Amino acid sequence: MDGSPGPEYWQQRVDYEIECALDENMRRLTGKERITYHNQSPSTLSYLWLQLDENEHSTESRKHHQESNKISAIMSEQSLRMLEPWRELGKYGHQILSIKNANGEPMTYMLHETMLRLDLPKPLKPGEQFEFEVEWYYNLIDRIHSASWGRGGYEYFEKDGNDLYTIVQWYPRLCVYNDATGWQNKQFVGRGEFALQFGDFVVKITVPEDHVVGATGECLNYPQVLSAAQLERWQQAQKANEPVEIVTLDEATKAEKNKKPKGTKTWIYKADNVRDFAWTSSRKFVWDAMPHYNADGKKAMCMSYYAKEAYPIYSRYSTKAVAHTLKVYSNYSIPYPYPTAISVEAANGMEYPMICFNPGRAEEDGTYTAKSKHDAISTIIHEVGHNYFPMIINSDERQWAWFDEGLNSFVQFLAEAEWDPNYPSWFGPAENVVWYMNQPKHLLEPVMTNSENIVNYFANAYLKPACALNILRETIMGREKFDFAFKTFCERWAFKHPTPADFFRTMEDASGEDLDWFWRGWFYSIDNVDISLDSIAWFKVDMENDPQAKEVVDTIRAQPPKDHITKTRNLAYGMSFAVDEDPELRDFYTDYKPWDGRDSVLTSKTTYYDETFSAKEKKEKFGDNNYYQLYFSNKGGLVMPVIIEWTYADGTQEVERIPVEIWRKNEEKFTKVFMKEKEVTGVVIDPFHETADVDKSNNNWPVKEMPSKFQVFKKHKYDSGQNPMQRAGRS
Ligand SMILES: [Zn+2]
Repeated sequence: MDGSPGPEYWQQRVDYEIECALDENMRRLTGKERITYHNQSPSTLSYLWLQLDENEHSTESRKHHQESNKISAIMSEQSLRMLEPWRELGKYGHQILSIKNANGEPMTYMLHETMLRLDLPKPLKPGEQFEFEVEWYYNLIDRIHSASWGRGGYEYFEKDGNDLYTIVQWYPRLCVYNDATGWQNKQFVGRGEFALQFGDFVVKITVPEDHVVGATGECLNYPQVLSAAQLERWQQAQKANEPVEIVTLDEATKAEKNKKPKGTKTWIYKADNVRDFAWTSSRKFVWDAMPHYNADGKKAMCMSYYAKEAYPIYSRYSTKAVAHTLKVYSNYSIPYPYPTAISVEAANGMEYPMICFNPGRAEEDGTYTAKSKHDAISTIIHEVGHNYFPMIINSDERQWAWFDEGLNSFVQFLAEAEWDPNYPSWFGPAENVVWYMNQPKHLLEPVMTNSENIVNYFANAYLKPACALNILRETIMGREKFDFAFKTFCERWAFKHPTPADFFRTMEDASGEDLDWFWRGWFYSIDNVDISLDSIAWFKVDMENDPQAKEVVDTIRAQPPKDHITKTRNLAYGMSFAVDEDPELRDFYTDYKPWDGRDSVLTSKTTYYDETFSAKEKKEKFGDNNYYQLYFSNKGGLVMPVIIEWTYADGTQEVERIPVEIWRKNEEKFTKVFMKEKEVTGVVIDPFHETADVDKSNNNWPVKEMPSKFQVFKKHKYDSGQNPMQRAGRS
């Protein structure tokens, strides 16, 4: 209930030992994996579900059949091919060669596009483990030019005739089984990324001998795969303050010209407690590295792999952006727990544990545009940041894209803001989401929408939640409360599987803020923020109010008594009353009728005249004050705090913040009075543009009304409906 893992929380565990080989001539990857599945659930399992993401490129994948499309007047070759992309995908997808149990006996399975149900020979009881082996191969897809856009595959460089391989979502992987969703076996169709269990990996990667490999985890055999000079540079890099090139630009340029490998090399990697494993390989790579130290003293090697095309941007920025990301994310969440963090230049943006793929190529003359530089740095921060969300704080991306993308884009913004105060961020500032919030409603879904069902994926899953969290931090909770709660969420769910409710609850639990209204508005609705200042009335106290008030009182006093009908009829009926039959019931008050029962403001013993202020007192306390009655309405639907900037006649300004609770009794409109000693010449709502208000034209009010007067008198208490301010009858 507090948003932390409950006392009976459990999660599954899967360990992998994989041997694979890249055949560069065939552009094919062949693999054999030994999987150990640990059933740590309280359930007995009769089958396991595996995900074969490469089958998104098979002809049967619904990815190629489920999108609507239409012919336009001009169509590119690519767009014509994309009409029915399955026509050119005959040779792609996972080919399962065998699945055997630990005794080497074949197992039965059912393949369902990207999902494979593996039937267990006997039910797997709680606490038991099951070992099995899968052999497979698949043809790598042209990641750039295929009609079926891919997360991984090869990119061919026409000028030098070499490939750059990104090997991702590549081996049959266990689906998540948990107490929130059971098996997460929703099909992979290219977008909603994945949900995975934690486990340990040992992976042996065989590639052409002149390739350089980067991968999740730590390499166990650099002495076997690096030259003596490279190994020495690797050792230098361990203590460096600047990135050290372990494979230099000169070596990479020579390798891409020679490209005559005689044999192969096997790189051996080990990664503990990760949800996935990815790698990259090419003879085009320059590779640099430098260490980053957490506050707790733990070292992570920050590294980059990039071809000469990206050298001008990457040699300067990539590894330093990686280190910067670890520093900032560690501050807002948990210290970076892994031994490496890698950025690979691959003209895309995609994340895996300890390794990610990013864009950043320069012009041919070695210059680069501001956009190329910022796209590189922003994407590196973003993808390295994904080490936290969802690699460590292991959410289910197949179901909730926003839960990792939104949280990650938000912290990305914080990291960019610490990189350069003028950094052109995509996310964060409330104004950046206004265009999306203002879209017609049929183009919007709540943030709490499944990954596959979102019209504008970027705006819905990245931009809106990132901006919403920034508004929460800067405007609603304040940094101290927000940062503590956000960090608490990360600490509670590191190396576990949170759901959105765990996040929502922890943010409230750790901060003491009731945010139900915020989650409802920003995450479950498609309303926007449009708070309108409809009008202003200006009041002054009427210092000559006594005669008029006295007339009112005299008029009331002159009215005849109005006995109520029951009393009149009871008397006419000749009823006998208890107070008449038993005189003991009578006391002073029985017959005392100070105002003869008249219905007026003066029904209490405390009188208007008894305690009113003297003329001097009134002048001192109220005489110079200005009372501004502001009329607000909620045109967008989202309730938000109301931020008011007052400009006074003397040119000074003041900002007041009205908490969101102002809307709790009427979410459509409210009226509120503000007392000001100075005269107001202007009012602006949301002056710093921090609430994503979609219509600023109703946020201003020049004070034009003539002042009107009202009366004031002192009275300790009054009943509802007898408010002397209302009785005064002025507005
Ligand atoms: Zn992302």
